[in-house]
Formats: sequence, structure tokens, C-alpha cells
Amino acid sequence: MLSEKMLKLGTNRSVIRDLFEYGNKRKAEIGADKVFDFSLGNPSVPAPPAVKEAALDLLQNGDELLLHSYTSAQGDAGLRGKIAEYINEQHGTSLTADSLYITVGAAASLTISLKALTEDRDEFITFAPFFPEYRVFVENAGASLVVVNSDPQDFQIDCEAFEKAITSHTKGVILNSPNNPSGVVITEEGIQKVCDILEKKQKEYGHPIFLISDEPYRELVYDGVKVPYLMNYYDNTIVCYSYSKSLSLPGERIGYIAISDKAVEWKNIYAAVCGAGRSLGYVCAPSLFQQVVARCIGQTSDVSVYKKNRDLLYNALTEYGYRCIKPDGAFYLFVESLEEDATAFAEKAKEFELLIVPADSFGTPGFVRISYCVSTEQIENSLPAFQALAQAYQR
Ligand code: PLP
Repeated sequence: MLSEKMLKLGTNRSVIRDLFEYGNKRKAEIGADKVFDFSLGNPSVPAPPAVKEAALDLLQNGDELLLHSYTSAQGDAGLRGKIAEYINEQHGTSLTADSLYITVGAAASLTISLKALTEDRDEFITFAPFFPEYRVFVENAGASLVVVNSDPQDFQIDCEAFEKAITSHTKGVILNSPNNPSGVVITEEGIQKVCDILEKKQKEYGHPIFLISDEPYRELVYDGVKVPYLMNYYDNTIVCYSYSKSLSLPGERIGYIAISDKAVEWKNIYAAVCGAGRSLGYVCAPSLFQQVVARCIGQTSDVSVYKKNRDLLYNALTEYGYRCIKPDGAFYLFVESLEEDATAFAEKAKEFELLIVPADSFGTPGFVRISYCVSTEQIENSLPAFQALAQAYQR
């Protein structure tokens, strides 16, 4: 009667959503300030003032019909041109408006790109830990997801394992740096090795292998860490970006796909992206916020708050005996579970009113993810609970 696959997706909610719902219930029972909710990746820093100013000015003085009308399916040409110019300035590329397709966030950037590329029996490789929706997106495009474990010491790419995972069916690789959930930024050396392997394998199999760079956290990096721009390392690159995190606009749904003008048959890839967007029924990204974003290119929310949160949480947790890598970017701390079963550990944490996400669905059992995109006050108040949780395991 209906699609079993979709029924399963709709009824088996994600662990993160379940925890978030539990948190809301618990907050109603004992008070919001007593529950330390580290479940979601919702930015806690407001959008920069330019966003509000642009929205108000457009609503008050803009052309009322144009503001709310359909734009071209691929997005407003003015916005696409501005984004291309900005990318060129930052990274020395030579993109134009014709390389850019505006989407409703990085999730749509990914689903559209995957749909545009996928043929029968295709495989996409990604690296664990990974954003769990990749599996949903890849399988929905009709391909299979192949997961390569990262080096457990530093969560950089295990290049030997990566090379072994590439087959004649590999259509592409999804790389997410800064990473959700580990916070790791892949080093330039690591990127270079991945690209060398891909070049070699493209030659061996005689067809292109695409590198999809999922980078909604590009601007959220600390201590001057650089995030290499993948188009400058590998021609067959497609960038999936969104303003959800950099401008703190996750609910406004604006992102883009940028196709390298050095990619093989890039104009056809672009046309297939337009076709995929059409087949998925996206029509166009929200008009008003396309115009708002056009006035805010190059700006970010105040990411120094995330750095402060990271330092506070990382220093305290490592002092209490937790083991984790100091994240270079994004707003997640990826912590080794204090017992083998991370789900049991996250359940135990609930006894201390700590809501943390077991990382099994990220492809890395034995870890939990702590989202530190919360108020600094919440982190300060939660520290005794984290200490008590650690002590519960020392006893
Ligand atoms: N990719 C990664 C790695 C993410 O963490 C997220 C959201 O948290 C997305 C994609 C989806 O982003 P958006 O909300 O812009 O669709």
C-alpha cells in the first residue's frame, strides 16, 4: 500500500531527534536550566546584524512581488554571481554564476548532487565518523554507501583503507571537513594523498570519480587552522555548502552546489544538477533569503563563542579523565565512551541530566558526540555533572 522504505525512515526517528524530544519532556518536568542538552547542532550564536538589517530593509523597501516570487530554479543570477566572485577571491578559482546552483541547505546540495551523478550499481565512499544522513541520501539516489574507518588515533583519513575501498563501481567520495561529529579538519597532506589516490584510480578504471566536499562548517575553525579548498587539489570536485552554520540560518534553508569548471563535462554535470533539482521537486530556494544572503556574503556569526565553549569543555573533560581529540572546527566534541556500549553510557549520562549522543549511527561505536553550540553558561553549569558521571565509572 505504501513504500516500506519510506515508512521505515519516517517511523525510525534518529537517535539525535529522540534525545532532543526526551530533553524537551525532561525540561518541562524539572526546569530547562537543570537539563544539559548537548544533542542538536543548532547554532547558539545569533546571525550577524547584517542579516536582520538586510531582511528589514528588503521587507520595507524591496519590490514586494519580486521578494516572494519564484527565482530561476538554479537560484537568482545576482546571488550566484556574488558567491562565485567570493569563492574566486578566497580561493583563486575561476567560477562564474553558471557553476553555482542555489539549494535549500547542504542536505539538498547533497541529495541533488548524488541524484545528478548516480547510475545503476554506483557506490559512494565516505569516512567514519560521518553525518548519518549520508546513508539515507546515498541510498535514496539509488547508490550504496561504502564506509571507510578513519585512523582512530586522530580521525584523519586512513589512506591505505581508502585506496582498498575504491572499486570500478565507485562514482564518488563524500568528504566532510570540518567534520561532524569529530570536529577534525583533514590536513592538507591528507587531502593531497586522497586526491593522488583518486587520480590514480580514475586512470585505472577509465572513468571519473567525483569528490563531493560537504562543507557547512568551513568557517567554523579555531586557532588559525586552514581548510583546504578541494577544487584547488582535484578537478572533479563538487562543493556542497550551506549558510546554516556560518550565518546561523539553519531554518532559512539556503545553500549551494559549486561545480568546478575544471571537472570533466562540467556543463553537463550542471545540467544534470538542474535536472535532479527538478526531479526532486525543489523548484527554487526561498526568494527573500536568497536576497538577504546576497547582501551578507563573506560575513559570519561570532564564531569566537564556539572556540570559548570548545576550550572550556575540552579542558574540563580531559581533566576529569575523558579521552577526546581537541577539535579544530565545527562545534562538536567526540568523546570516548566510558563503557564499551556508548548507548548504555549515554543512558547513564541521563541520570546526571546530561544529554549526549551515542555515535553508533555515525559509524563509530564506542564514542559519544557532545554538541557545544549551546550557551557558555550551560557548559559551565554542566561541568559538575560531567565530573560526577566520570566518577561513577571510577568507583
Ligand atoms: N552535512 C553535515 C555534515 C551536517 O552536519 C549538516 C547539518 O547539521 C548538513 C550537511 C545539513 O545541513 P543543512 O541544515 O544546511 O541542510
